[in-house]
Amino acid sequence: MRWRSCCWILRFTQDDGFLDLSVFIRIIRGQKAFPRAISTCSVCAVPASKLIIFDCDSTLSAIEGIDELARGRGPRVFAEVEAMTTAAMEGKIAVEDVFAKRLAIIQPRREDVAAVGRQYVERVEPTALATIEQLKAAGWTPVILSGGFRQIIEPLAAHLGIARIEAVDLYFNASGDYTGFDAKFPTTRSGGKPECIAGLKRELAPARTVMVGDGVSDLETKPVVDLFVGYGRYTERAKVKAGAHAFIHSLADLPGLLGQ
Ligand SMILES: [Mg+2]
Repeated sequence: MRWRSCCWILRFTQDDGFLDLSVFIRIIRGQKAFPRAISTCSVCAVPASKLIIFDCDSTLSAIEGIDELARGRGPRVFAEVEAMTTAAMEGKIAVEDVFAKRLAIIQPRREDVAAVGRQYVERVEPTALATIEQLKAAGWTPVILSGGFRQIIEPLAAHLGIARIEAVDLYFNASGDYTGFDAKFPTTRSGGKPECIAGLKRELAPARTVMVGDGVSDLETKPVVDLFVGYGRYTERAKVKAGAHAFIHSLADLPGLLGQ
């Protein structure tokens, strides 16, 4: 199998922009016919996707997941963690300076993660679901890119019909006690979100890439996207508003902004 053919099969077997590995393997093994678009080797027959990448906390949902995990540990821990989160989101301290520290203070259990996951859904941005459905119908592939935690975000992603989450994994032992996090994941440090987007663009070769978010870590993605949209429904940050290509207070404004 020539490499070029493999690449086109990979692209064709993507559902919502992402690979259906079982279909790919069946085609490679000769158990499934090549789709017409591939057999004709027509580049134009495989349209490039358009990526719309959303921050999660204070963008798709009103809450900051790490702060809600801290709230369950009492007011002193909550105040300490919230202050660190705010300083990081405003760019006053580096994300990597607080990431491990906040989790070490909180020691989240698996059951805490499930509870905050439900809060994400309960406090979802009120126009998010309809907006994402509209954008998907117009050919956009939504992705969640977060410095938060994959297991907490999964219920919200399922609610919104978003198949791909780029976020940090938490680790637990068999009893559900916290044992650590994926310290290698890019969003655990400053500059991590642009790194993730660069990887998505290499993987998916989108025709257009848009990022939406409220924080300075989101604004960092501006050089690697076609449009950076600042978001201010929950927290309006002057630095983000000044630096963004556009600034909105409702996700329902996105389709118009994108010409959809
Ligand atoms: Mg945010």
